[in-house]
Amino acid sequence: MSSTTSSTASPQVQQDGRPVAGDSTSDDVVLRRAPDGTGDGVLAARAFAAGETVMVGFLVGPLSGNDSHATQVGPQSWARHGGLGPKVNHSCDPNCGVRLNAGGAFDFVARRPIAAGQELTFDYAMRNFTVDHFPAACLCGAAECRRSVTGWKDLPARRKAVYGDLVAPYLRRMDDDSDRDIAARLAPPTASASA
Ligand SMILES: [Zn+2]
Repeated sequence: MSSTTSSTASPQVQQDGRPVAGDSTSDDVVLRRAPDGTGDGVLAARAFAAGETVMVGFLVGPLSGNDSHATQVGPQSWARHGGLGPKVNHSCDPNCGVRLNAGGAFDFVARRPIAAGQELTFDYAMRNFTVDHFPAACLCGAAECRRSVTGWKDLPARRKAVYGDLVAPYLRRMDDDSDRDIAARLAPPTASASA
């Protein structure tokens, strides 16, 4: 299938899920495109208040495994987001968090006021339990930079608390489950185990 002109309702994306040059999902955000692709990012086209939805996410298909543009949507499931979502860069102190929407995709929500022209960022640990496909060194420049792009599994507890509800719900559930496992291991042995 080669035609991409049939729909005006959704943005055009290439087969790998990347947006076509010049495309954007709304007038509120714009793609910053670098010639070599390594400087791509997404910028706010207007000011946003804290708590405001900056960009509505949508999925373009499920995946059989993780890759560098995959979004983890469950303990063992990944999906491809369309539009500009995959172009939002990581920061260890991001101005956006993520919120699961009714379509099973993640919206970007402002964690603090964002000025027009600012780059949108989120923490990859807000969506991925582990981060396996990025270079070791993080160059986000934040004062709280972790020095490497790590997943939720390695995120300090105080950082998890700061992010609140603006993370993938399944990550919170996995923490709750592991807390229960630890509690069960620390519980006194049952009568049947004594000799
Ligand atoms: Zn960093």
